[in-house]
Amino acid sequence: MQKIDNYNFKGKKVIVRVDFNVPLNKETGEVSDDTRIRGALPTIKKIIEDGGAAILMSHMGRPKQNPDPKFSLKQIIPAIEKYTGAGSIQFAEDCANADAQAAALKNGQILLLENLRFYAEEEGKPRGIEKDDPAYEDAKKALKAKQAEFAKKLASYADVYVNDAFGTAHRKHASTAVIADSFDESHKMFGFLINKELEAMDKVLNEARAPFTAIMGGAKVSDKINVINNLLDRVQNLIIGGGMTYTFIKALGGKIGSSLCEEDKLDLAKEILEKAKQKGVKVILPVDAVNADKFDANANTNVSKVNETPDGWMGLDIADESIKTFEDIIVNSKTVIWNGPMGVFEMDKFAKGTSAIAHAVAKATANGAFTLIGGGDSVAAINKNKLADKVSYVSTGGGAMLEYMEGKQLPGIVAIRG
Ligand code: AMP
Repeated sequence: MQKIDNYNFKGKKVIVRVDFNVPLNKETGEVSDDTRIRGALPTIKKIIEDGGAAILMSHMGRPKQNPDPKFSLKQIIPAIEKYTGAGSIQFAEDCANADAQAAALKNGQILLLENLRFYAEEEGKPRGIEKDDPAYEDAKKALKAKQAEFAKKLASYADVYVNDAFGTAHRKHASTAVIADSFDESHKMFGFLINKELEAMDKVLNEARAPFTAIMGGAKVSDKINVINNLLDRVQNLIIGGGMTYTFIKALGGKIGSSLCEEDKLDLAKEILEKAKQKGVKVILPVDAVNADKFDANANTNVSKVNETPDGWMGLDIADESIKTFEDIIVNSKTVIWNGPMGVFEMDKFAKGTSAIAHAVAKATANGAFTLIGGGDSVAAINKNKLADKVSYVSTGGGAMLEYMEGKQLPGIVAIRG
């Protein structure tokens, strides 16, 4: 496999799949969080400094037509130029008709293509036709053929393909996977960002030092079940928090009031607990909780044992005893993976548990542990607590990270690594 580190881009046109799907301020239209732009910079810089030309392509949002100004990548040019220099970005209004601009691009220059998802070919999902329509499958087949053409068109702009968009690596899209078919092994590679992501995840999956603790939170068990299953073969401790707690508590016969619960996953919760027992994995559930009388930032609150939630109340955060138990386990771990908040951390009244866990993960890192944080909400919690540089790695890909940790083959990774 070709590595970016020892590739010389001099004189090459390089098409780079980046993840510029950045949030925009609704009022000003400005980029409100440029983390993803910064994430792509090392790869862009290497191409330019080597003396190559970079053609950047990305999606943004979920446009349904072409063009769709609300989702135009033109809006983010100033944010990219903040790091690459004023006036440094050329722009192609139509990503599928950029031949002339790509051909005219000189070494050291950067061309940004308009939002790839203006074309349904990018995702290969037919538009304007419902999935249950009998004609849907035929439409999808027809579009797949066009997707290959679209990918070839994108490939025709460049000599080399670099994928640096980890957030979309779990999708078999034109720009993330299909395009790789047009390049031989020595002309396609991962960018620095994907390399870092893979390194961090492989470290956790294959070289974890014990004790290895997985902290799983968030709303639903069903979203995390495959990751939990895969991790049960690897971890010594599985900490469970957030809304998914209550499916486990109910499965164990506890009283959960009106807390979130997936009734159809009670057996699954029991199976996980049984499997963990067989494998010698310690499952640590919260013992107490902060309850609310409604799902509201200004709700009345009380604290109870997690399995004695009063009728009409719902558990929205872990409480002090649970925090203490979780902290002890985390700070004594040598490997930690965290995905999903411990409570409804978006509301101040229910953010304490998640913040405490963020700090405990930072402390474990200071103690020498390797710590990996992924999933939009846990990343937001780490950022909110200003701890991003106090943990080992913060993943940029929520869904992609979960699928990788499930042990799945991601199309965007396979397309390059094989
Ligand atoms: P996920 O995307 O599955 O990681 O879930 C994140 C969401 O779970 C966040 O928006 C949290 O507000 C929510 N969440 C966490 N704990 C709870 C809880 N106890 N009850 C309801 N929602 C929760």
